[in-house]
Amino acid sequence: MEVLTKIVLKSGKEQSLFRLHPWIFSGAIKQIEGNVKEGQLVKVVDNKGNFLALGHYQIGSIAVRIISFKEIPIDYNFWKEKISASLKMRNALGLFKNDNLNVYRLVNAEGDEMPGLVIDFYNGIAVTQFHSIGMYLIKDQIVQALQEVLGNSLTAVYDKSEGTMPFKAIVRPTNGWLTPSPALPQTGEGEEAWERVIVSEYGNKFIIDLFEGQKTGFYIDQRENRKLLEQNSYGKNVLNMFCYTGGFSVYALHGGAKLVHSVDSSAKAIELTNKNVSLNFPEIKNHEAFAVDAFEYLNNMDDKYDLIILDPPAFAKHNTALNNALQGYKKINQKALEKIRKGGFLFTFSCSQVVSKENFRKSVFAASVNARRKVSILHQLSQPPDHPVSMYHPEGEYLKGLVLYVE
Ligand code: SAH
Repeated sequence: MEVLTKIVLKSGKEQSLFRLHPWIFSGAIKQIEGNVKEGQLVKVVDNKGNFLALGHYQIGSIAVRIISFKEIPIDYNFWKEKISASLKMRNALGLFKNDNLNVYRLVNAEGDEMPGLVIDFYNGIAVTQFHSIGMYLIKDQIVQALQEVLGNSLTAVYDKSEGTMPFKAIVRPTNGWLTPSPALPQTGEGEEAWERVIVSEYGNKFIIDLFEGQKTGFYIDQRENRKLLEQNSYGKNVLNMFCYTGGFSVYALHGGAKLVHSVDSSAKAIELTNKNVSLNFPEIKNHEAFAVDAFEYLNNMDDKYDLIILDPPAFAKHNTALNNALQGYKKINQKALEKIRKGGFLFTFSCSQVVSKENFRKSVFAASVNARRKVSILHQLSQPPDHPVSMYHPEGEYLKGLVLYVE
């Protein structure tokens, strides 16, 4: 085995590794024996020299992301086995059976014991997102492993890591194909022409904007919550706030909603929402989408909605912004609770990792008190099983939602 640079921990700092937590913070390091480059595989030892783990080194607050707690070769076969294990779980969940469902998350970073790596599957196209330099440097092995493990069901691999690498990283990836680019269907003409990938999520069709879309192109993590919404939409006036590509709107229409309004501050998102709605319902008359700021819309709207979805972007990305974020959740939820019709349903979410389930619930509680409505919790929602949370890394639980009944 190659000789690896040793990272020696301060006395007592090995405890988190005994609990199998996959991060080592820079403050836990006593000494680095030898030269270390960003992204390099390193060996972590306690201050007596005993082996603890292997991981990727990085400059920053999280200094090492653990890859293995065993001293084994971290080579192509290692990664192939890891990706194969992830696929096995998704297959066991029945997530990729047929044309009815061909979009899911294949690798969820720490949740699949691959810190720094996210891979989403869009009807044959795997989209990678590297969040650590160590993972980025082995991208060729990851692509090869995907090809071997997925076989014929893989058409191509696209990397979308332009904005995901740490601020000070030595590498600056640009988005692009990691395999020969596939022949994608074209839509529009001339300058308006763009390539698209179409996926099916429980029979609902969505255009994925690989090149310019947010995240890897689609919010796969709301799949099961959208399905629940569909079951509760019949005959209702629905407001889908922060709609992005209109995921919840399409499900609401399939569920028989009387009217659906989609709102997002991004004009591009509204354009995609309209395209997705027409793709599923070419003759639709009861859907309208508005490119407006959420706070402005909530302040000015009347009280016609029986079902409101609030799925804002992460209001807090760091702990320092926590209080402002909680105020933000309170504010939008209060507005929705004040204006929703009697007997209405509010689907409300937070995807901020630093906002705990309890804190989110407290914000919604404060909003309910201020709105002076009778509010009951019907469902407590989370992320779907293809976004698993490692038992040893509770930080991986980021999506929380409540379905409220408002009298
Ligand atoms: N519900 C969506 C995902 C929402 S992502 C889905 O299921 O796919 C959050 C969205 O909020 C983004 O599309 C972003 O453009 C939008 N957004 C951010 N700030 C906003 C604001 N102040 N008002 C309205 N929309 C906003």
